Amino acid sequence: MSESDEIIPATHHQEGFHTPSANVYISYDPANPPAHPGANWTRFVCISDTHSRTFGVPSGDVLLHSGDLSRLGREDDIRVTIEWLHSLDHGVKIIIAGNHDLPLHEEWYEDSYYGFHNMKESSTAIRNLVDSKANRDRGLIYLQDGRYAFSTKEGGREWSVYGSPWQPYFGGWAFNYLPEEACDHVSAIPEVDILLTHGPPHKVLDKTFSNVHAGCPALLAHLSKMRRPPLLHVFGHIHEARGAVRYPWLQGEEDQDSSNAECTTPLGKETIMVNAANQPLGRQAIGQGGQRIPCGGPGFQPVIVDLLDSAMRLEM
Ligand SMILES: [Zn+2]
Repeated sequence: MSESDEIIPATHHQEGFHTPSANVYISYDPANPPAHPGANWTRFVCISDTHSRTFGVPSGDVLLHSGDLSRLGREDDIRVTIEWLHSLDHGVKIIIAGNHDLPLHEEWYEDSYYGFHNMKESSTAIRNLVDSKANRDRGLIYLQDGRYAFSTKEGGREWSVYGSPWQPYFGGWAFNYLPEEACDHVSAIPEVDILLTHGPPHKVLDKTFSNVHAGCPALLAHLSKMRRPPLLHVFGHIHEARGAVRYPWLQGEEDQDSSNAECTTPLGKETIMVNAANQPLGRQAIGQGGQRIPCGGPGFQPVIVDLLDSAMRLEM
């Protein structure tokens, strides 16, 4: 795919799309979410940028949270999120941090906390809240530049996942990297079925209100060089670009319009990209009737992705 191609974000009224191996639901009735497709499928429910807000999340096999667990990473705020996550019924929950989860970036927080917090929080206590044996025993897995593998059914398909909290420099927050540091961070990302990053790749659901593509070019380049790119890549960070698209990695006669549900690219030679940000910002936080749209509300619901258990990552 050439540099000039831009992946058009799925707009907020778009309901989703289907492929032979995946169902993606961007918008649905929260009181009556689409039915689970059955025994040979795994339902992933994608959330991000919840910032210590809590809301109803559809049931599923796996919950994926792409970072910004809290407002500013204070212990009380992180605890609200962790208790909420424990209350949800997904058997496996994979979470990462984002630029707002300040004390989880220990080295940076040590030097920079005073710009955000009057009193320094305990990074150790906060790390223990997100990453503990007790959490893992309950199926809640925190990844920070780490990989994990799981299956949701006895003897069922094993899914590999990698989580990274980093994003391009943005006002000097936690887990920011400078352009010259980008390759070091993204090259650590291995080939896995499911990738969680806090920030988007460049030009994929990454356009800000000011029409800037804030996603990482090095991340997109790294994924494009993978022999087997992920089936599913979930991120957030740029709340205003929330949505989901099919991202085809092949050049040529294949349909390059990733928003086209008739796209013929086989799953495996494309990645389902999800910007799962749940917290509306700015003008998107106000509904048509002038009412405030809550976190996870209309236009910012959790994105549901069903994957066929036999779906394979194909060589490019
Ligand atoms: Zn956020």
